[in-house]
Amino acid sequence: MASETVHNELNVYESAEARFELAARRLGLEQGIYKYLKYPSKEITIYIPVAMDDGRIEVFTGYRVLHSSVRGPGKGGIRFSPEVTLDEVRALAAWMTWKCAVVNIPFGGAKGGVICDPSKLSAVVLERITRRYTAELGEWLGPERDVPAPDIGTNEQTMAWVMDTYSMHVHQATTAVVTGKPLDLGGSRGRREATGRGCMIVCNKALTELKLKPQDCRVIVQGFGNVGSFAALLMHQSGYKIVGVADVHGALYNEKGFDLPTLFDWVHNQRKPLPEFPGGGAKMTAQEVLFQPCEILLPAAVENQLTSQNAHRVQAKILLEGANGPTTSMADAILDQKGVFVIPDILANAGGVTVSYFEWVQDRQGFFWRESEVNERLQDFLESSFDEVVRYAGMHRVSNRISAYMVAIDRVARALKLRGIYA
Ligand code: NAD
Repeated sequence: MASETVHNELNVYESAEARFELAARRLGLEQGIYKYLKYPSKEITIYIPVAMDDGRIEVFTGYRVLHSSVRGPGKGGIRFSPEVTLDEVRALAAWMTWKCAVVNIPFGGAKGGVICDPSKLSAVVLERITRRYTAELGEWLGPERDVPAPDIGTNEQTMAWVMDTYSMHVHQATTAVVTGKPLDLGGSRGRREATGRGCMIVCNKALTELKLKPQDCRVIVQGFGNVGSFAALLMHQSGYKIVGVADVHGALYNEKGFDLPTLFDWVHNQRKPLPEFPGGGAKMTAQEVLFQPCEILLPAAVENQLTSQNAHRVQAKILLEGANGPTTSMADAILDQKGVFVIPDILANAGGVTVSYFEWVQDRQGFFWRESEVNERLQDFLESSFDEVVRYAGMHRVSNRISAYMVAIDRVARALKLRGIYA
């Protein structure tokens, strides 16, 4: 069982390790390859001195972990959050390796983070943190080395600063060094919605597996940021009924369903608190809403929301993991026993990195695609990855999660064997 090796259930690195171990064992991965893939390739810690608005100097801590560049340059977001830890960044970097391999795009895995609370910092200070962090990473970044993207607490503007800082250092405009950029700076059409759209694409596939229709499905979405709000909006437009929504301020549950375009406007344009939305609904905590009646549960906020302590309370038929690591490895067995159809994070939220890959390709070609082309290609990548994961799960009699890890680890291991060990 995956939980055998977990000492601290809420340590995401241990959770990621437990799944990796289980999948590696099922694959019969040889010991040397196992060791190679278990450890990150590089870990960088940066102390970032910044002049604050009042002239004081503050020092922030940042990390960049390159887990693997076996299949291509490192790829992974930069997170700005007070909760960032090195263990978290390590786990997220490894997940990026498996995620890129599951959808078969030519990237390795990386992740970055800075311990700071962007909601309490001015744009000027955020820009200084971003530029110093980028400058310190220096040569470790690059379109052929390591390509960051946005994550929690960072956005298109942050990526524009990374691109500019890197470009100033190498004396040429280098758009392909980051993805998730503004359209005016080599961003891709469809990138902003891509992770949410990807969630919907794989959910549609799961519905076909389970012989359900969107109209039969009530959805609860925890997290109303880039992933959650676009997933909710697009799913609403496709006929799903969004009955629960939550963000960091709290949650609403309304059996009748929410008017998503109005809710989206309330939160994102009017910048009002989600729980105050006048569309009605019972107020509750962002945790409690996870256990309300629904067919589809979409955690799209933070890690460790479903644990061994609460997973038995999930009522959903489908768990669609928009967030990275919303379920602990100790909760996996409980969800399996309940017969929940899990679409694991490394597949469910891979739409973002897939369109990041398209962005990188477009930047390098200097030729940009129509949004319909981006969306069609995204659908192709995710539908075939979903089919492969479900087929592999059936063939090896493992959960979808372990199947996704097995597909990914096998791909990376094959590339590694072909390359051999440089010494
Ligand atoms: P975001 O910062 O845009 O939004 C996060 C949302 O979660 C916000 O609505 C926030 O209020 C809410 N939230 C934060 N803490 C919460 C809590 N404790 N309870 C309930 N809600 C809470 O971030 P995002 O880009 O949407 O990322 C969300 C998750 O999806 C993260 O796990 C991220 O790693 C993952 N992810 C993001 C992308 C992407 O393209 N943005 C791609 C893959 C995975």
